Amino acid sequence: MAQRKENIVLFPFMMQGHIIPFLALALHIEQRTNHSITFVNTPLNIKKLRYSIPPESSINLVEIPFSSSDHGLPPNTENTDALPYHLVIRLLEASVSLEPAFKKLIQNLIEEQQGRPPLCIIVDIFFGWAANVARELNVFQAIFSGASGCGLAHYYSLWMNLPHRKVDSDEFSLPDFPEASRVHITQLPTNILEADGGDAWSVFQKKNLSGWMKSDGILFNTVEQFDHIGLSYFRDKLGRPAWSIGPVLLSAENRSPFGKEGGISPELCIEWLSTKPLNSVLYVSFGSMNTISAKQMMQLATGLEASGKNFIWVVRPPVGFDINSDFNAKEWLPEGFEERTKNSGRGLLVQKWAPQEEILSHKSVCAFLTHCGWNSVLEALSHGVPMIGWPMAAEQFFNVKLLQEQVGVCVELARGKSCEVRHEDVVSKIQLVMNETQEGNEMRRKASQVMKIIRNAMKDEEGFKGSSIKAMDDFFSAAESKRQQTEIENNGAA
Ligand code: UDP
Repeated sequence: MAQRKENIVLFPFMMQGHIIPFLALALHIEQRTNHSITFVNTPLNIKKLRYSIPPESSINLVEIPFSSSDHGLPPNTENTDALPYHLVIRLLEASVSLEPAFKKLIQNLIEEQQGRPPLCIIVDIFFGWAANVARELNVFQAIFSGASGCGLAHYYSLWMNLPHRKVDSDEFSLPDFPEASRVHITQLPTNILEADGGDAWSVFQKKNLSGWMKSDGILFNTVEQFDHIGLSYFRDKLGRPAWSIGPVLLSAENRSPFGKEGGISPELCIEWLSTKPLNSVLYVSFGSMNTISAKQMMQLATGLEASGKNFIWVVRPPVGFDINSDFNAKEWLPEGFEERTKNSGRGLLVQKWAPQEEILSHKSVCAFLTHCGWNSVLEALSHGVPMIGWPMAAEQFFNVKLLQEQVGVCVELARGKSCEVRHEDVVSKIQLVMNETQEGNEMRRKASQVMKIIRNAMKDEEGFKGSSIKAMDDFFSAAESKRQQTEIENNGAA
């Protein structure tokens, strides 16, 4: 039966790490259904997005008015990319003020469609307020998490309970999440560590997360088979569905560096990788916005050199410097490191932005030293690449926990931007994962198993639908049911 063309509204928070998975979701929905997509954001983000949408896509980009200077933010600040960390919370607080404009926008869409509301509204994990708009206008509404189920469950439980404030020890359990193993204080992101219930982050999160209770469910960019504990947490906690529909990822051709300069062309990168033997290269990158301290950088460089392995390292200026400025290898790396790396042909230093998808999919890549941002994790797992974890912020600490303790495809090297990292540990972790050790072999075996699970979850052919494809169908069925119920109620009332 042909599907009716419906409108789906997507609205991510103004942060690159959130906009990118939303865009991947929009393209995924567009490809799988004949629904039209309305992608909402503030004017400057929409302007940037115009360059990221593939020409064949008919995603409708719609601006929602926003003036950063009305909220004590520097003028023309509409993305956390342009903000120092201490102002991120202010942009989050300011985003709450978008509620009336968002309601008006949905009302306009309903009017344009002669009274027919969008089939559903999918919003960011930071937009707990959007459930009010959806309820008032009788539209099905879900949250979309670009984070793992496990990571988000830890994050939710920590914010709702602040358990570290109630114990004396450095290690503790999560009161409403007994399935999770114990959490160590070093695994807490800075804002949770410093939260006391009365600070700006706590106040924001309490209200935001409470808003989730009114939502119709949560979509997760993850796979049921290896992330079920976190998904079950939300099913029990909210009494609502948690649909695991991932991984939805941008393809290599759809990912321009989103306003960042590319440091190397994909062709040159592939050419370099192709000169290396199978499974011989370590890829090192800490995502789109993280960097490490100058001291850690020295230790990492020394460790990489001493490991004897080939590597590609996306280098950024250390903590304290503008992350988008040029990299000064003479100052920040051991003496002669850059020349030795180049002359020996053993390493490739990439500034600013690397073609990650092309790198991870190359057969010479053996392992990935990563901050374990969830997109990077999904990309690595999709290509069966095991990881060495160095989480830096947010739920990355709990992604490592999931990958190491439950899935068995990662070892943790370090935690955070100020921890002590020794070059000897860098060497031993690299060798553990990349050499023919028992652990290394086991991690590679599991990573390749997970790759198959992922491919299966996204399969839709010859009458077979994988778990993630089914979950997406279930999501649309739930939205349809609500639509039908509303129509029956409206007809009854008329
Ligand atoms: N990325 C990339 N090249 C880089 C750095 C990052 O292509 O040099 C992409 C990476 O493939 C991933 C995203 O940027 O899709 C980073 O998302 P993730 O969730 O891993 O981390 P975040 O940047 O949000 O901390």
